[in-house]
Amino acid sequence: MERRVIITGVPGVGKTTVIEGALKRLEPEGIRYNPINFGTFMFDMASKEGIVSDRDQMRRLDRPVQKELQKRAAELISRIGGNVIVDTHCSIKTPNGYLPGLPDWVIDGIRPDTLILVETDEDQILGRRLKDLTRIRDMEGSGAIAEHQQFNRSISAAIATRTGCTVKFVRNQNHLLEQAIEEMTSALR
Ligand code: AMP
Ligand code: MG
Repeated sequence: MERRVIITGVPGVGKTTVIEGALKRLEPEGIRYNPINFGTFMFDMASKEGIVSDRDQMRRLDRPVQKELQKRAAELISRIGGNVIVDTHCSIKTPNGYLPGLPDWVIDGIRPDTLILVETDEDQILGRRLKDLTRIRDMEGSGAIAEHQQFNRSISAAIATRTGCTVKFVRNQNHLLEQAIEEMTSALR
């Protein structure tokens, strides 16, 4: 059976690292996924149009512009078949408030059977953002990060109720990356 999985988590939680680790572990078992990064689809279009020069500028674009890029990315991704993993966000923190990353028109294109949230304690996320020099991460307090994670949980419950997809929480705690990768691996098996 084809698997269609969405993986989300607030910036800096380590989603991409956990996904890469899990896919490597599944390879010898003959389990393959097409890893799709939603932000990369958006960024490729936006950079071609010359409206951004790095992926962290996208969440500061005008809301209609972000939504248009989002719609076009969802349309392209909807045509990809086989086992897919979509690395994306339940919500994006913009200067105008939270922008839903998975509104109906995105979910209806991806058609997920599982939604996975990668989470950890907010102070750990804060520490990781401070250390990550490859990205222009938002600087915010741990209370704001906690709010964002809480909001994403609410969104995941709404999506599960509407679509019937399952929801799984994977904890990616400091010094326990192996455990997170193992949890992710079994969710993708
Ligand atoms: P990431 O590399 O996952 O942090 O994604 C980079 C950027 O892509 C995010 O900061 C958002 O601006 C954008 N993005 C990713 N997924 C979505 C989505 N589902 N809806 C809208 N914007 C998104
Ligand atoms: Mg990432």
